[in-house]
Amino acid sequence: MPGTPGEAPVQRARWLTQLRDAGSLLLDLIFPPRCAGCGRVGVLLCEQCLARFEPIRPPVCRRCGHPNPHDGLCRSCEHTPSPLDGISAAAVFAPPLRDVIHVFKYGNGRGLAPALARPMVTAWQATGLAVDLIAPVPLHAARLAERGYNQSALLARALGPAVGVPVAETLLARQKATVPQVTLGAQERRENVSGAFVCRGDVAGKRILLIDDVCTTGATLEASAAALKACGVGSVWALTLARARWAPGHSDDALTPSECASR
Ligand SMILES: [Zn+2]
Ligand SMILES: [Zn+2]
Repeated sequence: MPGTPGEAPVQRARWLTQLRDAGSLLLDLIFPPRCAGCGRVGVLLCEQCLARFEPIRPPVCRRCGHPNPHDGLCRSCEHTPSPLDGISAAAVFAPPLRDVIHVFKYGNGRGLAPALARPMVTAWQATGLAVDLIAPVPLHAARLAERGYNQSALLARALGPAVGVPVAETLLARQKATVPQVTLGAQERRENVSGAFVCRGDVAGKRILLIDDVCTTGATLEASAAALKACGVGSVWALTLARARWAPGHSDDALTPSECASR
């Protein structure tokens, strides 16, 4: 019996989907997924590793996110103007999260984004803040081509629907190819990313939430916020998955490269 017009393409699409599903099942059998934190077979990120992430607990400075005796501004932020209104982070940049982020960024771990966005949703909801748009920190086109994806955009895509805020993935662009921040001290990091970003959108007066994977000194987030403020944005908050551990008496320059993440 002849089928109705259009039935053949639909049938073909169904077969292709079934074939793809069978193919990924077969791939899972040959190369089963492994937890990026502990190597456990069967999942990309196991519940035990998720439970070992160290949440950042208040009181923290409301702008830089460092531990602080109270929830206001820390002494450093009181004396330094910043285009950023505040930074929040979900967890400390320490194992197993550090290893998971390494796989996420450098090991084609894009499938980890939904699980990694979960603690970010919790951290953002705890701030009680409201924003109009979410903007991921962009990669330079050359870095994006090399990696194939922007890890911050993947986190933003997973976070946006969960908190009910639209994601403006191309609002910011990176117009300057910078050297990886991992090799640099705090002052050099600021100089490296200064003027690196440009805002491309009509967002005057809007409240923006910047998304990035790791915050070390905050230099990248500050440079991104400066580009947004130059566009007339009303306020810029930042939320990262991880935050470099703050050690009393040590400046961010003291972080060793192994403790930091490059872009
Ligand atoms: Zn695990
Ligand atoms: Zn501060």
